[in-house]
Amino acid sequence: MKKIILTGLSATLLFSSCQKTTTSTSAATTETAAAVTPASVPVQQQAQVFLDQYSRTYQDLYTRSAESEWASNTKIVEGDSTNAVATRKANEAFAAFTGSAENIAQAKTFLEQKDQLTDLQVNQLEAILYAGANNPQIIPDVVKARIKAETEQTEKLYGFDYRLYQKSVSTNDLDNILKSEKNVKKRLEAWQASKEVGPGLKEGLLNLRQLRNQTVKSLGYDDYFTYQASDYGMTRDEMMALMQQLNEELRPLYRELHTYARYELAKQYGVKQVPDYLPAHWLPNRWGQDWSAMVEVKGIDLDAALKPKGAEWLVQQGERFYTSLGFPALPQTFYTKSSLYPLPEGANYKKNNHASAWHIDLDKDVRSLMSVEPNAEWYETTHHELGHIYYYMTYTNPDVPVLLRSGANRAYHEAIGSLMGLAAMQKPFLAELNLIDRNTQTDQVQTLLKEALSYVTFIPFSAGVMSEWENDFYANNLPADQLNKRWWELSKKYQGIVPPAERGENYLDPATKTHINDDAAQYYDYALSYVILFQLHDHIAKNILHQDPHATNYYGKKEVGDFLRDIMYPGASADWRQMLKDKTGEELSARAMVAYFQPLLEYLKEQNKGRKYTI
Ligand SMILES: [Zn+2]
Repeated sequence: MKKIILTGLSATLLFSSCQKTTTSTSAATTETAAAVTPASVPVQQQAQVFLDQYSRTYQDLYTRSAESEWASNTKIVEGDSTNAVATRKANEAFAAFTGSAENIAQAKTFLEQKDQLTDLQVNQLEAILYAGANNPQIIPDVVKARIKAETEQTEKLYGFDYRLYQKSVSTNDLDNILKSEKNVKKRLEAWQASKEVGPGLKEGLLNLRQLRNQTVKSLGYDDYFTYQASDYGMTRDEMMALMQQLNEELRPLYRELHTYARYELAKQYGVKQVPDYLPAHWLPNRWGQDWSAMVEVKGIDLDAALKPKGAEWLVQQGERFYTSLGFPALPQTFYTKSSLYPLPEGANYKKNNHASAWHIDLDKDVRSLMSVEPNAEWYETTHHELGHIYYYMTYTNPDVPVLLRSGANRAYHEAIGSLMGLAAMQKPFLAELNLIDRNTQTDQVQTLLKEALSYVTFIPFSAGVMSEWENDFYANNLPADQLNKRWWELSKKYQGIVPPAERGENYLDPATKTHINDDAAQYYDYALSYVILFQLHDHIAKNILHQDPHATNYYGKKEVGDFLRDIMYPGASADWRQMLKDKTGEELSARAMVAYFQPLLEYLKEQNKGRKYTI
């Protein structure tokens, strides 16, 4: 579900709606700007010359870097480091450019004369500084070491040979067991197998902490977590307070879901004594972040309906959904260059199985890396990843400079993807596609429950466990001999989940999560994206479609496409808070999400009557 961000380009921090003008007198007093242009040229023009030059090189190096990353993720050959070496070199070249002391100094100098620049120029210059802080060439050896360590960590993670009963298995295989197996012992074995990758990543992760912190400190950030939060125009404390707020807003509902799950799963697994906390291996997901497989909504067997369609159909159908909203067809290169399906049996290389969407050249070359199989999960994931792809395609336009071709903030990118995933799963939409019979009677409450087990259970994991652990890890110097201990403390506190048995420091369970290794200190993006997604969906349902938010059909509705395109078009050149307020009429909050699940809360309270609450 992640997009690849090579640089973490800055969202707009200081956007204001009025365009500032340059006067010739003020320009004449500024000698410090780009050396290539005479001082008599207005600052605005000088800045533009610098930005144009910078952007050209940036795009070129970005593309090379993305191309080699793509190769590294789609063709992993054990013992062959050709791709890894090429990736390292490309990333080093990119880092040397974005972090160059000269570029950083230039951007700073121009920003000192902000009042003479256009807002768009200011935004781009800030993006340059943000990118520079990740790779400052004031400390070239540290940056080089960090890039090397990141590449090695990724290789270890994705090249890992997961084994179950002495046989190699994929993470898809392990996930399938956790989703459907009723035998608790078999579940435990699959869960344990999924955690075996952790210990081998410990040394690399500790090294990365030090390198990541050191890198951003040289540009004045306290630590890597603080740096990442700054992309939203927020301090670390503000971000953590916001995460706390989201956890609290959703806590009453989560408490009901937690109680419900303990009793229902104990019943399903034939366990008489209902545990106070959920054993991690009971849940249908390796980290307990998504429990939706617990519930099968009668009348909708999407897996069965999708199986005969084949994997290719899922991707083509995803595209049809977007074109029905008025978006263009995917470029032909999307199909020829993407890696969309599982590798053929017996392939002599591996690929990254984590779904992602790529904007290779910040222009027309968009690709997705997936392992699509014809089932409900990949159906939703395909719609999600295509959301990223269409976001890329939409802000690739003449009004948005290369440096601002990213989401309004990082969470928006995820929100658009997840919004389309949600919309694609609603009943009237499924009926439109003939995946279910229009007259199928479905249990509304069970449908809502299934959605809550996906969206709501995710918040304590993302806004709680992941965000707090990484905050502790990067900003509070979490001791190396307490990494696993802290992880499970947080799991218990936020998710009410405990390990099957004591998990000492000989394990490293947080490192089994991809993002901890290669997308560090920004997992709150996903929590924020869910909140934004419900705000957008609530608005679309109520104000555009005039439909119940629980049963919408976006298909073919050009007005919905227009609403989304307005949000997507400016990329990071618009202010994200202002945009949310302008488009939905409200500030960021979980209000819409809580309201969406309100009917379920009453139902669960009824179900849980007489049951023991433990969180
Ligand atoms: Zn995503």
